[in-house]
This record gives sequence, structure tokens and C-alpha cells, in this order.
Amino acid sequence: MLEIKDLHVNYGKVEAVRGVGMSVDPGRVTLVLGANGAGKTTTLRAVTGLHPPASGQVLLDGERLERHPAHRVVRRGVVLVPEGRRVFAPLSVYENLLLGSYTAARSTFAEGLEQVYTMFPVLKKRRDSAAGLLSGGEQQMLAFGRAFLARPRYMLLDEPSMGLAPAMVESVLSSVRVLADAGIGILMVEQNAETGMDVADEVVAMARGEVVYSGPVTDARSNASVLRAFLGEA
Ligand code: ATP
Repeated sequence: MLEIKDLHVNYGKVEAVRGVGMSVDPGRVTLVLGANGAGKTTTLRAVTGLHPPASGQVLLDGERLERHPAHRVVRRGVVLVPEGRRVFAPLSVYENLLLGSYTAARSTFAEGLEQVYTMFPVLKKRRDSAAGLLSGGEQQMLAFGRAFLARPRYMLLDEPSMGLAPAMVESVLSSVRVLADAGIGILMVEQNAETGMDVADEVVAMARGEVVYSGPVTDARSNASVLRAFLGEA
């Protein structure tokens, strides 16, 4: 289990995250909702060692992660797929995937690559195309595939549907479920609440740096405070 406990993160005097707790199990999707500035990205950055927290704990199967630098967090099996995909546009799909595997054992690349091609057949079809020529949705799948090749146990996804054509949102969020079904625990920040909830197991809503709701997706759909947090009114 990946667990965040009483996390506080500051930018100078700004307390961006104040006492946040949430968790995710292998094979499950925890969806994090909240208005702009609620502290969602900051939480993901603190978990992955990109911004050290002021206090609190990040536990990976009970082992504390929050003081580890980012590269060590990746090696422990927790990877971040940041907002904006950031694929290497001039490189081929295959080359992008190869780069994703640099922290993993070489022997696992071929097997991992086959898994990625099975999960996302479009990447196999376009393996020799420059990544920059893919659609936004395909680039997002490439970003997922590249992260998968680091052989993570947990993936943190920051707004995977950002900037995608509406028709692609559903297919990208379905691929999130595919990753979870491969056994990965997913902590996903996503503005598309409805489509996000279609693939989530648990929902956490944040407002102004705090968790205002946390519970199973079935309850979240009928809970007004989730919606208010999402709309920025909580
Ligand atoms: P968004 O959906 O806009 O990304 P978010 O919920 O991810 O929102 P954060 O980006 O985590 O929110 O921001 C939380 C708070 O921290 C905001 O008040 C923001 O202005 C502030 N903040 C974020 N990054 C920095 C930074 N580098 N320096 C100073 N303040 C920051």
C-alpha cells in the first residue's frame, strides 16, 4: 500500500498542503479531485521526492519514502507521469519507450515492451513514428507506457486528460483502468470528475490544501461536498 499521512508542504510562507492523508492499494485507482490551487499537484510532487514536505509521512508498504530524492523514489517503484505528457517529440515511439526503462533491469525490457504493446496496441502500430506525430491521446498512452517500463508498483498521474479532445478523454481514462488491472496502484489527479469516477475505486476531494472528502466512488457520486470541492466552492 502507498500511504500519505498528515502531509504538510509549503512554498516559502504559503502552506499549499495542510495535513493531507490518502492511500492507494495495488490494482486500485484513487482519484483526486479539487479546484485549481487545491494542492493536488503539490501532493504528487511531495510523494515523488520532487518537493520535500515540511512534515508528514509517505509510506510504501510501511517504509518511509518522504525523505528520499526523486530518483530513489522511482527505484522503489513509485513513478510520476506529470501534466503535459512530455514525450520526446523527434524520437520514435519505440525510442521513447526504451528511455522509460533506464532505471529498470535490462532483462525485463523485452517482456515489459510486449506488455505495453498488448495494453496499448496503437503504440505497437505506431512504434516507428516520431512521437510528436501522435495525437494527444496517443501521446498520453505513450507517457503511460514509458512510465510502465520503469516497472513501477504505483503510478501517480497528473491530469492525464488535460488538453485532449473530448473523444479522447474516455479512451485515455480507460487506459488508466488497464494499468490498474495489470496490478499497478494508481493515484490520479483529474479534472474530468465524471469520467474519472468511471475508472476509479476511491475518491479524495481536496480544497485549499486539505482533504474535504474521502471514500469509495459509489458514495462520492452522491456526496455534495465532493462536487462543491470540484467546483471550487467548498
Ligand atoms: P492545479 O489544478 O491548478 O494544478 P493544484 O490543486 O494542483 O491546482 P497546486 O499546483 O498544488 O494545486 O498548488 C497549491 C497552492 O500552492 C496554490 O495556492 C499555488 O498557488 C501554490 N503553488 C504551487 N506551486 C508553487 C510554487 N512553485 N511556488 C509558490 N507557490 C506555489
